[in-house]
Amino acid sequence: MNNTLLVKTADFASISELFGLNPGFHLIAGPCAIESGEQLEKVAQKLVHNGVKFIRGGAFKPRTSPYEFQGLGMEGLKILNYMSKKYSLLSVSEITDARNVEKAVGLIDIIQIGSRNMQNTDLLKEAGGSKHPVLLKRGIMSKVEEFLLAAEYIALAGNKKIILCERGIRTFEDSTRNTLDISGVAIIKKETSLPVIVDLSHSLGRKDILLPVAKAVAALGADGIMLEVHDNPAEALSDSKQQLSLEEFQDFYDGLPQLSSNRDTISTALG
Ligand code: PEP
Ligand code: MN
Repeated sequence: MNNTLLVKTADFASISELFGLNPGFHLIAGPCAIESGEQLEKVAQKLVHNGVKFIRGGAFKPRTSPYEFQGLGMEGLKILNYMSKKYSLLSVSEITDARNVEKAVGLIDIIQIGSRNMQNTDLLKEAGGSKHPVLLKRGIMSKVEEFLLAAEYIALAGNKKIILCERGIRTFEDSTRNTLDISGVAIIKKETSLPVIVDLSHSLGRKDILLPVAKAVAALGADGIMLEVHDNPAEALSDSKQQLSLEEFQDFYDGLPQLSSNRDTISTALG
């Protein structure tokens, strides 16, 4: 690949630098889709209690089937905006249409560009022009090189607030929802200064191997992880199988020292 690319040559801020946080391993957690204020508030309380700084929640859901729940749209973003302010959390939500970028900038802290839209060049340019932090997910069928070139669109439009998110690619292996490309993360860390996180929920599509994989991801040098958490996964309107209940989230969090140490810092600070 062209070694003069901005993504290869420019200096990018770490997640901690972008948001004025303590250095560390970051967690973006929350429901697959925002379903109601009550639902999001239960998750937000759980996150704040544990010292988590980022809440996610989809409002524009790019579902495979048009008959499935499509998200609450702008109403969902407003709910996310309200809860993130109330609980001092940084908000992340996917925007699927370039025409919604400007409105989203006023409502959320990070614009997510999802796997299905990784090569939507109009959306990439618009998000780039917004100068708002962008979390770019890897396309399900995209090579690392294509992933970096998609990020280049954002950087070239003048926006260097980029976080990359590996979320698994499609292979013949079907014991996980997608195949988590760990070496891709290592290559991006080696070749660029871009922060990279791993979305464990969409990579794995299952909950029973989250902890060992999260440990591997932390050891790999990734900057953090994304996880789906719901107050009642069995009744969730999307991705029911992979979302952690609040109790499961707690067990996971307690089991990963890179995360639970954040909470311990908070309790020490609070005395
Ligand atoms: C999501 O994070 O809500 C999502 C739909 O993920 P992806 O774009 O990786 O499929
Ligand atoms: Mn999901």
